[in-house]
Amino acid sequence: MSRPQLLAQRIATFLQKRNAAYCETCLIERLLVASRAAMRAALEADCLAVRVGVCADCKSRKQVVTHRAGRLAA
Ligand SMILES: [Zn+2]
Repeated sequence: MSRPQLLAQRIATFLQKRNAAYCETCLIERLLVASRAAMRAALEADCLAVRVGVCADCKSRKQVVTHRAGRLAA
């Protein structure tokens, strides 16, 4: 698997476990992602979706990342 895919899987697992949406910045901090570019590449993965919502961490309304296959309301 490529590195973006591995990272995408880590992000998906994290989001699934928390059953919440997080913004890019908070995900980078929590998952110790190497760079914003690495995060961007991971977000291309099918298992992740970006939408506008409230981040579970910083509580601000912005673009958040969700796990697509999950039972999260869109
Ligand atoms: Zn956040």
